[in-house]
Amino acid sequence: MIHAVYPGSFDPITNGHLDIIRRATKIFSKLTVAVLVNPQKKPLLTLHERKQLIRESIQQFDANIVVDSFYGLLVDYAEKINAHAILRGLRAVSDFEFEFQLSLMNQRLNPRINTVYLMASADLTYLSSGLVKEICSLGGDIKDFVPPGAVELLNSKLATDPSQG
Ligand code: ADP
Repeated sequence: MIHAVYPGSFDPITNGHLDIIRRATKIFSKLTVAVLVNPQKKPLLTLHERKQLIRESIQQFDANIVVDSFYGLLVDYAEKINAHAILRGLRAVSDFEFEFQLSLMNQRLNPRINTVYLMASADLTYLSSGLVKEICSLGGDIKDFVPPGAVELLNSKLATDPSQG
């Protein structure tokens, strides 16, 4: 059995993340989607909301997927859950430098755990959680970019019109 951990902020999970998860289930026999609790970032959604949205949206996959969260070093968490690999998605060249540095550091910290990258699908490469939140806060329609539960939640948290108030 090959177990991979897919870490991220998932604030919120997007169709880009879901595409990576769907493709990863064809490669790995077990996938742990792990929400990083990062005190330096100020997420829009609570940890509970992010995990709940992931849980709802992965129901479409008939695969061995666990949803979890972690705090601290990713390699330590990967070791703790007996994962063999770290999975990350690569969008444009802009992701590359950061991801390269991250994977080298993780390799240095724990040479047993390799990082595996899946290139973003061409039609989803423009998609990021940050951009979705920005579009939503400006009143744009985000239903093509995130699962239905996320549309509802983001609209309730973001879609206000400051010019009216
Ligand atoms: P982080 O803060 O760790 O980058 P994200 O939730 O933004 O967390 O992303 C988690 C992982 O998913 C990262 O490896 C990121 O590159 C990847 N990812 C995000 N959006 C997409 C997308 N549209 N297509 C492919 N991979 C993506």
